[in-house]
Amino acid sequence: MRVRYITHLSKLDGLTLEERRRLEPVAARYAFRLNSYYERLIDWDDPDDPLRRLVIPLENELNEWGDLDASHEASYTPVRGCQHKYTDTALLLVNEVCGAYCRYCFRKRLFMNDNDDVSLDHRPGLRYIQEHEEITNVLLTGGDPLVLSTRRLDAILNDLAAVPHVRIVRIGTKMAAFNPYRVLDDPELPKILADYCDSGTQIYVMNHFDHPRELTSEARRAIGVLREAGVMMVNQCPIIRGVNDDPRVLAALFRELSFIGSPQYYVFQGRPTAGNEPYEVPIVEGYRIFTEANRQVSGLAKRARFAMSHRTGKIEIFGVDDSYIYMKYHRAHRKNDYGQVVVALRDDCAHWLDQLTVVSGPRSAARAAADYRPWGRGGRPRLPATPF
Ligand code: SF4
Repeated sequence: MRVRYITHLSKLDGLTLEERRRLEPVAARYAFRLNSYYERLIDWDDPDDPLRRLVIPLENELNEWGDLDASHEASYTPVRGCQHKYTDTALLLVNEVCGAYCRYCFRKRLFMNDNDDVSLDHRPGLRYIQEHEEITNVLLTGGDPLVLSTRRLDAILNDLAAVPHVRIVRIGTKMAAFNPYRVLDDPELPKILADYCDSGTQIYVMNHFDHPRELTSEARRAIGVLREAGVMMVNQCPIIRGVNDDPRVLAALFRELSFIGSPQYYVFQGRPTAGNEPYEVPIVEGYRIFTEANRQVSGLAKRARFAMSHRTGKIEIFGVDDSYIYMKYHRAHRKNDYGQVVVALRDDCAHWLDQLTVVSGPRSAARAAADYRPWGRGGRPRLPATPF
């Protein structure tokens, strides 16, 4: 099926002239992109439709809030287009375009004109990976690697498969949600992926479904095609205000994903990224939503962790009581931090570790909190804790 890309709000019949006029300045700051497949999934009669909220700009994105690189990815970039934060995993940012642009994206800086995070030439990153034998996993990301042609993707996979210590290549993609025809209309894609899986490089597709309505019959078929090719499938997404911040919606997503063989892997606390204020949910509320969603699903549907991709590591949030928030380093840049528990005073307005008062835990966490400089007009909000 022919799927058309839409890069101007003026091409959207679902918006009134007045809406287009108001939203143009937002799209001028944070790029807008949609496609005709996903456009049809939106209920244009509902201004609060979750899929509309996912891709259509909101005026309050222009509120001063957050950082463009909230997880300090630049400091883990040894060569252009390659990030290396955790010992065994490296990232190759191979593309700066996606099937559509999520308004809450934490990498929206890539879609701005002057970024040098992505490298369309993967060879410098490849050389870095070749020289680091501890790297067993490579994540292709961007942008969305499945926007690349199959030929280009094949060339990158071929180079990675030739590195003996690389055993897993992950493809981080939202194409099954944004445009499943990318998979359904290209028989060559599952064929090359099957060849890599058969010859010893396991391919994982890290899907990105945010809402159960994205699991259309086409999306489910695309997942089936990739699974048949021998690809392992998981899903990851953040909790997004107005999209999946209802435990029933998140539970339905977890449940359906477990049924189609792409179970939830991580649920992320939204990063405090510039432009993302309208989409963010505070940590305590996010933990409650995650816990209540898990309560409604089977064991296989609730294996995900609720985590913050902080600059010091991936910090799992595993408990909240009347006084404290309990966290643990699930991945850590500094090896000694791995497994360490972080306890912080409960703050129902805090969105990020840096805004919390850490009362016990490794120095990295305490320092992050101590170094905190308020972003935007919200500053460092403190409200009395309410019963959980
Ligand atoms: S698919 Fe991923 S990288 Fe692309 S806009 Fe959405 S969140 Fe950002």
